[in-house]
Amino acid sequence: MDVVPRLAAGAYPLLVFAVCRRGVMEADAWGLAILYLALSLPLAFLALWVAGALAGKRISLKVPIFVLLMLGTGGAVWLFALQLRGHYQWFFLIQDSAFFVLLAYYFAASLRAGREPLCTFFARHVHRTLSPELLKYTRFLTKVWVLFFVSTGCISWLLFFFASNAVWAFYTNLLVPVLVVIVFVVENASRRFVLPPADRVGLLGTYRALRTGGLAGAMRSSAPQSETVSPMDSIAPSVQEVAKTCDVLVIGGGPAGTTAASLLREMGYHVVLLEKCHHPRFHIGESLLPANLPLFEKLGVAKQVEALGMPKLAAEFVSPWHDHQQEFRFADGWNKSLPSAYQVERSKFDFVLIKNARDKGVEVLEGCEVQSVDLHRSDGMAEVQARTDAGQSMVWHTRFIADASGRSTFLSSKLQLKERSRDHNSVAIYAHFVGAERRQGAAEGNISLFWFDHGWFWYIPLRGGATSVGMVTWPYFVKTRGERSLSDFFKDGIASCAPLSARLKDAHMAIDVTATGNFSYSSRRAYGKNYLLLGDAFAFVDPMFSSGVWLAMNSGDQAAKTIETCFKQPAKAGAALRAFDRMMRKGPREYSWFIHRITHPTLRDMFMRPSEKLRMKEALLSLLAGDIFGTTPIWRSIALFKSAYYLVSVTELGRTYVAWRRRHFDIRRDQAVEASVTSV
Ligand SMILES: Cc1cc2nc3c(=O)[nH]c(=O)nc-3n(C[C@H](O)[C@H](O)[C@H](O)COP(=O)(O)OP(=O)(O)OC[C@H]3O[C@@H](n4cnc5c(N)ncnc54)[C@H](O)[C@@H]3O)c2cc1C
Repeated sequence: MDVVPRLAAGAYPLLVFAVCRRGVMEADAWGLAILYLALSLPLAFLALWVAGALAGKRISLKVPIFVLLMLGTGGAVWLFALQLRGHYQWFFLIQDSAFFVLLAYYFAASLRAGREPLCTFFARHVHRTLSPELLKYTRFLTKVWVLFFVSTGCISWLLFFFASNAVWAFYTNLLVPVLVVIVFVVENASRRFVLPPADRVGLLGTYRALRTGGLAGAMRSSAPQSETVSPMDSIAPSVQEVAKTCDVLVIGGGPAGTTAASLLREMGYHVVLLEKCHHPRFHIGESLLPANLPLFEKLGVAKQVEALGMPKLAAEFVSPWHDHQQEFRFADGWNKSLPSAYQVERSKFDFVLIKNARDKGVEVLEGCEVQSVDLHRSDGMAEVQARTDAGQSMVWHTRFIADASGRSTFLSSKLQLKERSRDHNSVAIYAHFVGAERRQGAAEGNISLFWFDHGWFWYIPLRGGATSVGMVTWPYFVKTRGERSLSDFFKDGIASCAPLSARLKDAHMAIDVTATGNFSYSSRRAYGKNYLLLGDAFAFVDPMFSSGVWLAMNSGDQAAKTIETCFKQPAKAGAALRAFDRMMRKGPREYSWFIHRITHPTLRDMFMRPSEKLRMKEALLSLLAGDIFGTTPIWRSIALFKSAYYLVSVTELGRTYVAWRRRHFDIRRDQAVEASVTSV
């Protein structure tokens, strides 16, 4: 945050106002001189801005708008001087209110996505490192100050209109400063109860920290976000490397990270990708969407993916509450150019992607885990510290970080941006089977989804004979496992779903059963001045619609464009970062609407008998194909589909209520279950 210019810009209107007031009230030679100065200062600003623009510096429209506003204020005061002189107390009210409005605005604006709360900013320069508790506390404190300024301003207006001048003057001039001191003291005292001892610094400590250069230095080097991540000295200094430099450092070599790295390298940047595992490694998430295929072409891996993938032409829904199966053929979607996708073994698929990145010239280091990041170096670069399998520490200085660390959510967790969804909560238990019954011909690779009483199963046929089967279920059902092994619990679950059980009757498990939490989450923002959050590192939703890999790779594609804009057109960086943030929210939002309602009998009926009217089925198919970022005009039909759902839900109120209660029961959190499953 450029605190000094911002505060100056904020204080300037008050200054103009104050000097104008003096000019009008006193109207002597001095007053007029001051008034003249106040009005002419904006012109000086304007001249400087034009000079800067002519010298080829960055041009922002904010400057002339600001200047015009100031001139307008000064002009208005000049014009209405006589009237104002008759009601001089208005001057004081406006000046007083403007003061509170500005303070409330600065504190509130710092709470917006992409900014650092002002109290966090101050705290960062008192404590070298901010603990998660302190980050949370200072965010809360910033909100308290916003509330204080707003309520103080409101009371001031009430007293102005409904009490005598003397009462109002007493309040603004004497009581408010006392109230400010009281808030400070109470806040300081309350730290004892809400913060751990290491995070407590008294008033004297704060003063000392600021005096030893904290704030002044901090203001000069401050950046827009709260990115104090980990202490740099957390890594053993004995093997500390000399820092290397790069343009972009990518954390994580999954679909998101490798896509961003490859495309940035093609743009000519020096890209380093750090991956903590060694490829090929197992990963869940094997069913891809048709919308992903053009990106394979763009990356130059289409042929290799085709060679390892099983063609997937449709998704089949099998329901115990309906007497038929519903097949959604992608070729029937709105956009006929996206007729199929692939099922892939992720170990092979991810290996192709990371190899491709390396072949393009990305500096790929496997077995190298990122441990800490400093986003606030005074030279504008970010510092990244990592440790290899062999225990060697490595340091990079980079212009930009793309965090694609998947469900480890490296940066999002460290920056306290991650928010667990309260609307969804499921667990996945899965394994590969050999000998499962396959469909014949082109339908062999179709994905099947089987609903059962406690959730749903995926059935994904892979090339080479293995079939991936997973049970997605609710915490209460996992709790019924009792003494059974995970494998027995899984087999019992399969046995309770007759159509799936029939397809697996001659099959045996080829790998160990794994259980993982599908706990949906999102991050409060997807960007900072010098970093982006990609794929699962930003958000994760239930895998019912197989959207994860596509959303991850698309985010890698968009991240590459966004970073290029930041590098090449700094004036457009802010807009590009915000557009990236909006794009990142779109996918999880669109799929979540369906995921959160899929247990509702109304939506299940609509899925099992999709209406062809008003192109609703085609639109639904395009959504299932992942065609949500392009220009295919599906949204009106999707809106009609949703409206039809709400309408039917209202006409079937009894059923809707039962489904709503059931869903709340299903998604209840259970700490014992959460502790028993992996979260990455
Ligand atoms: C049960 C389940 C089923 C799923 N089914 C599907 C499906 O059928 N289809 C689908 O499209 N999606 C599915 N998904 C989602 C899909 O797996 C993810 O959305 C996708 O893998 C996200 O890609 P990514 O690149 O963001 O993260 P990842 O693929 O997880 O890659 C992240 C990488 O970062 C590395 N890493 C992490 N931390 C660090 C660090 N500190 N330093 C260095 N490296 C690090 C990890 O080792 C990993 O390789 C499923 C997910 C789950 C949980």
